[in-house]
Amino acid sequence: MRAFRRLNDWWADVWRGDPFASDLPMQGEHRVARARLLVVSCLTLINALVVLLDPNNGDFNDSLPFNLIAVFGSALVLLATRRGNRPRWLAVSTVLGDVTAVTLLMVADLVHNLPSVVLNSRVTFCAYFLAMVGTCIRFSPGLAVLSGVACAVQYSVLVFWGIRIWPDTVTPDIVQHGTISVGVQIERIATLMLFGGVCASIASWAATLRSTATHDGLTGLYNRRTFEEQLHGELLRAERNGEPFAVAMIDVDHFKRVNDQYGHHAGDIALKAVASVIRDTLRQTDLVGRWGGEEFALGFPSDRTAATTALLERVRATLASTETVLPNGVTLKLTLSAGVAFAPEDGRDRATLLAAADARLLEAKRLGRNLVVGGEPIQPTLM
Ligand code: GH3
Ligand code: MG
Ligand code: MG
Repeated sequence: MRAFRRLNDWWADVWRGDPFASDLPMQGEHRVARARLLVVSCLTLINALVVLLDPNNGDFNDSLPFNLIAVFGSALVLLATRRGNRPRWLAVSTVLGDVTAVTLLMVADLVHNLPSVVLNSRVTFCAYFLAMVGTCIRFSPGLAVLSGVACAVQYSVLVFWGIRIWPDTVTPDIVQHGTISVGVQIERIATLMLFGGVCASIASWAATLRSTATHDGLTGLYNRRTFEEQLHGELLRAERNGEPFAVAMIDVDHFKRVNDQYGHHAGDIALKAVASVIRDTLRQTDLVGRWGGEEFALGFPSDRTAATTALLERVRATLASTETVLPNGVTLKLTLSAGVAFAPEDGRDRATLLAAADARLLEAKRLGRNLVVGGEPIQPTLM
């Protein structure tokens, strides 16, 4: 009983995936994997029922092993997509795999010399659209175009093959499914490509919405939620690999004065300039997010070395020497204060490290601003 409950919990976990992960393409991939497993399992169940009720049905007997392999493959993809970041090759292989699976279903009929079943099929042909529609939630217009082109190319090959083996006499499959019309085949191929285009447009819109949900509108940096999720993942990875990691909190000094003196629009321009200085001084792979207001948070692999302090010193010095020209022609010079905390010395989890970095930021403010504090571990105090 306990083993069953454990198995059930494990399956529920696999099925749920990671709904809070910020890698939305992987979540999309997971949702497609669930739909794929459901569809393939239903088809396999129907196939098994037919075999049970009509054991002499040759077609269904032949296809059962392939259906079972498809269920197994779909379950593996579901397992692989339940969490983590999506590797580049995964989406391309699943998109091409889905399209090719539909084509192979039709190839089986061509091999059995049934071209009319393939070229006039309705249900199997519609499976191409099922394969394509999944690309809409994978956030990549390129994948949608790829699926449309793959469907059109593969189906064109089937059309070419079907016409070549089309019999001279009227066979039972032609009586049941119809004769060949080149015009209809051209329309079918064009429809596949057009549908790929529609999916690309939806995927592009979804990608825009995704970016809005994960990034800060003003600075283009990660928003707080995304930063925290990414930091969580990076800390886990660093701990697993036994690598040190640094977390920093940055606050722009006396920023309220900018708004008070020059207005909020000028303040926005100044905040964007600060964000660019921070982003440009760090490596592409370092995490940068807007924590809120005029505060920024950073995460990057580093230990408590002079290099870390030097990096933040560089950010501080670059901002201190950057002149931001406001729309009214006024030139503004801003400064920042920063606190840095280190994993594992100051803590291992996100909340402890952020609190330690924040405590050091307060220390930097107290010591006079325009300063980076990354010193000895200090106990974050709750206010
Ligand atoms: P300190 O050196 O102690 O940090 O002083 P400060 O003035 O920077 O800090 P305070 O918290 O008093 O003020 C922060 C200001 O940042 C207040 C708020 O109006 C401004 N601010 C926060 N977010 C935005 C924004 O998106 N745009 C603009 N223009 N101002 C913002
Ligand atoms: Mg502040
Ligand atoms: Mg401030």
